[in-house]
Amino acid sequence: MLTVGEIKDILRKERISISKRRGQNFLVDAQIKRKIIDTLDIKADDEVLEIGPGFGALTEDLAQGAGRVFAVEKDRALARTLQKMLARYGNLQIIHQDILKTNFAQLTKQKVKVLGNLPYYITTPIIGYLLEQQLKNIKEILITVQYEVARRLVATTGTKDYSALTIFVQYFTKPEQLFPIPKRAFYPQPKVDSEFVRLKVLTEPSVKVNLQERFFKIVRSCFSQRRKTILNSLTHQLPKTERPQIQQILKETGVDFQARPERLSLEQFAKIEDAFNQKGVKF
Ligand code: SAM
Repeated sequence: MLTVGEIKDILRKERISISKRRGQNFLVDAQIKRKIIDTLDIKADDEVLEIGPGFGALTEDLAQGAGRVFAVEKDRALARTLQKMLARYGNLQIIHQDILKTNFAQLTKQKVKVLGNLPYYITTPIIGYLLEQQLKNIKEILITVQYEVARRLVATTGTKDYSALTIFVQYFTKPEQLFPIPKRAFYPQPKVDSEFVRLKVLTEPSVKVNLQERFFKIVRSCFSQRRKTILNSLTHQLPKTERPQIQQILKETGVDFQARPERLSLEQFAKIEDAFNQKGVKF
């Protein structure tokens, strides 16, 4: 793992400048690195996909332990530099690509462990992409996210952190906060502290719904104005359906239509989706 001095040297020699826009904060704390690698518990037949390897703070340990490693880095200069640094590992493939455009099934037939100190600016899109589009190729997800995001992932009903993201993530996975990572563990230091989290992929979604897309639409429209009652939000979302009809549908589910969205469990949102499905209401 590189020290701050070594990172600065490479930046100078390779004429690379750190891109804030790409969320580049490099891990420089060896103890935290050890904790991350130990948590991943790599076996020789594991295949690991690393999101944004940067200067390879985690990558070399992955290549030493896993069967195969795919390291997907969007920054051309970083991908090229890392390729030179770790050329001796035949089981490591450094892929210069946007993670949001990476099709895991084209890389391997095996389910991968996904690891990454995620670039903060696209944490939520990356989580969305992994869960909605690549999940069948994923064994487990271990990621570093901002502390505030971690709180939202594990939030329980009725708390201020409970959000559309909570429901989305808890629909597909069992999220777990593992340990904090202080901002001083990175160079340059980000503004906020982080948390290392595991998203344990469920074999089946945590609640049964008829149409996943409609379920998430209902959740998103209810949380888009979280101070409104779910009746008001859904009335706003469904201009072609009369308010009394929406009220009646909600009434039949037994869910309080005057409640704010943070009061509703995943099961209750699933009930609402089922009721709209039965009445044939289009979203
Ligand atoms: N893993 C390295 C570490 O811990 O030192 C770097 C972590 S840094 C927080 C995030 C990395 O993700 C950067 O190397 C950045 O260039 C890369 N990155 C940013 N956006 C990306 C994207 N859309 N796809 C792949 N990599 C991306």
